[in-house]
Amino acid sequence: MPIFSSRAMCIAALLTLIPAMPAFSAQISAQTSGQISAQIAIIIDDVGNNHHRDAAALTLPVNVAISILPHKHFSQKYALLAHEQRREYLLHMPMESMAGLKQEANVLLASMNDKTIVQTLHAAFASVPNALGMNNHMGSRLTQLETPMRTTMDYLHRHGLIFVDSRTSAQTQAEAIAKQQNVPALRRHVFLDNVLAEDKIALQFNLLVRKARKYGRSIAIGHPHKQTIAYLQKRLPTLAQENVQLVPLSAMLAPQLNNANPNILASSVNNLR
Ligand SMILES: [Zn+2]
Repeated sequence: MPIFSSRAMCIAALLTLIPAMPAFSAQISAQTSGQISAQIAIIIDDVGNNHHRDAAALTLPVNVAISILPHKHFSQKYALLAHEQRREYLLHMPMESMAGLKQEANVLLASMNDKTIVQTLHAAFASVPNALGMNNHMGSRLTQLETPMRTTMDYLHRHGLIFVDSRTSAQTQAEAIAKQQNVPALRRHVFLDNVLAEDKIALQFNLLVRKARKYGRSIAIGHPHKQTIAYLQKRLPTLAQENVQLVPLSAMLAPQLNNANPNILASSVNNLR
C-alpha cells in the first residue's frame, strides 16, 4: 500500500519539520515572550471539483489547509499541487446528511456495513494521495451514528491519519469517538462563508479571532468562493498586527501527536526505515 507508507512518511516529516517551521518557531518564541495568545487555523473545503474556482485557494498563505473531495477530476492534481507547496491537505470525505446525500458517488452511508465503509474510505484516500487525514463533507446524519464512526475512526487509527470534525450536526459523535480510538482529532469552530457577502464573512472571521483569544486556538472552515478568497487575501496579512497567528493544522495537533498517539509516531518511524 504505497500511498499509506508515503503518507505516513509525510506525517513523520511534518513532525520532524515542525520545530523548524518559521511559523511554529515564531509561535514558540512569541509564547515565551508572552506576545501571541491566539492561534487560528483555516481549512478550505470542497476542493477538486472546479479547477477554475479552486486554483485561487492555492494562492492563500501555505498555512491555510485545503480539503479535497475524492474521485473528482482534479482530486489528484490538487493533492500534488498542495504537496509541492508543502501545504497541508485533507481528504474531504462525503458522508450521509439528514437530507440524504445519495446522489454523491462514494459517500459513506448509514446503510453500509463495516467492510463497505472500509473499502469506500480506502478508495477515497487513494484518490487524494498523501492526505494528512480527513474531515467530513456534509455528514449531519452519519456523524451522529456510533457504529459507522467507530469503523471510520478505526480505519484512520490503523493508517495513522488525523480527523477534523466539520460539525455539520450539533449531535455529532465523530470527534469524541476519534479521541476514544486514539485518532488525533480537531473540530471546526466557525464556518466563514455560509452567507456569501463580505460583511458577513468579516463577522465570522471576527468570531474566529474572538474564540481564539478566549480559548487560545480556533479553527475555521471556508470554501473556495471568490468572496471568501478575496476576504482572506485582504485580512490574513493584518493578523500579525493583532497578535493573532495563522498556524498549520499540524501545529494544533502537535500536543496530541507528541503525547497521546505513540502509534502514529511508531508507524511513521517504521515507514521511514
Ligand atoms: Zn464540504
